[in-house]
Amino acid sequence: MKKVIVFVIDSLHPVVLGRILSEGNAPAFRFLAKHGTYFDSVISSFPTMTPVATSSMITGTWPDRHRVPGFIWYNEEKRKIVDYGATLRSVLKIGPEKVLRNLLNKLNEEHLAPKVSTLYEKLEARGFTTGNINFFMHRATHSYRVKVPFLLALATRFRLTQAEVFGPSHLNLGQLVHPPFSGRVNTYPRGVLNRFGFNDSFSGKVAAQLIREGKQPDFMVIYFPDNDKYSHQYGPLRTGPSIERADHLVASALDEFGSWEKALEENVIIVTGDHSQTTVGLGKEYLIDLDRALKSYKRLELIEEASGDINKEIAICPNERMAFIYILQRKNEILPDVVGILARDPRNAQIAWKVSENRYSVFQGGTEKQLLFSCVGPYQDVYGQSWSFEGDLSVVDAQVTGEQKIEFAKYPDAFTRLRSALESRNGSRVVVSAASGYEYLAVGGPIHPSGGSHGSLEEEDSTVPMIVAGMPIRLDYPRIIDLFPMILGHFGLSK
Ligand SMILES: [Zn+2]
Repeated sequence: MKKVIVFVIDSLHPVVLGRILSEGNAPAFRFLAKHGTYFDSVISSFPTMTPVATSSMITGTWPDRHRVPGFIWYNEEKRKIVDYGATLRSVLKIGPEKVLRNLLNKLNEEHLAPKVSTLYEKLEARGFTTGNINFFMHRATHSYRVKVPFLLALATRFRLTQAEVFGPSHLNLGQLVHPPFSGRVNTYPRGVLNRFGFNDSFSGKVAAQLIREGKQPDFMVIYFPDNDKYSHQYGPLRTGPSIERADHLVASALDEFGSWEKALEENVIIVTGDHSQTTVGLGKEYLIDLDRALKSYKRLELIEEASGDINKEIAICPNERMAFIYILQRKNEILPDVVGILARDPRNAQIAWKVSENRYSVFQGGTEKQLLFSCVGPYQDVYGQSWSFEGDLSVVDAQVTGEQKIEFAKYPDAFTRLRSALESRNGSRVVVSAASGYEYLAVGGPIHPSGGSHGSLEEEDSTVPMIVAGMPIRLDYPRIIDLFPMILGHFGLSK
């Protein structure tokens, strides 16, 4: 049986990949696309943030089931805001130790729902070996001792030196967990300037090494983080050079098989992204200042706990082009007021909240347009999901076509994705998604004037390309959750 290799390039933009493929500037991707199936529009999760999307890819579920709601979110059980390290300033404020613990342990072992299985868990339970190279989501049964590099140990006041993480039979997490390096150690970019091994070149080198040494597991995911940084800085449409660098690393890994043809005879090779990005305008008007808009409410700070005596009213959790506003008390009074404030601003493309069991309301900012939907009813979307609705479908740019079919355009799979963001864990909340070109400004969230940003429900943040080579595949309306059954199916397992 063929092995499976999945390369995940953070913020891979379908238009840019399409362009460099046609220009001939990504020979490995071009080879794989030519000998495989090329999808130019695979729909990601909402919010379109890496922890959410990668959890969806590795479990085949949306956040209502895998329970990782965002990059920054409010944990109602713990009455605290969870932040996986959105900005350097918040890392320093929260403390590097806590951020690392969140990323290494809590994200996988506590936040990711124990009830849903990861691909690693499913496959290893049936005797297959699996591997993870630098991918966020790595939950499986093997235990690893974390080796903390000196500078990081210093930053975490030596509290992480005993840390243990769980992962598949082959686990690589930068310099913290890795196989013994082969050849010259200096060719693996490490240290503080190379994000302690969490970079493309390190990922690519470890992948090539496993293949060369005959240690390639049956299934492995290799994550390339650099394109996200590049895209944030220069804008998504200028990411050609960083995607070409990823292509080069994939080419080196494929070279280890002797020839690329041989690589495909022995493997299924998949190249895809977690989410994409949108260009943000330059100028203050492109930043939607949530701190100012909601300044009349007592806001929970990033590092404090909400308890009765401090009387906090809301928690603002910015996720770039999307934000959660959690309502911590007097819900019936504060929630409608918050919605009212946000609905006045035309830069908020959607303002959504849960009205009651299985009833969700969506407003369009700057207009009087409203929509109410529920997931039982006579209408069907292209995925076979059922819906009913009242109000104006243009709030999510949808329309009803013949035979009670609902079709979404600018906001793909909008009902499922909005609902899954509103049903991910407990806690009363309002969700806002920004119009094209805008992003949210709030303490704790990064901003990217004239660069790239993501998080929203909109098509450009939400669409990634995918190349599947080495096995036949047909998907009419692909979404990132389809990777899960696709890979299990290849190994003869069902969901
Ligand atoms: Zn990003």
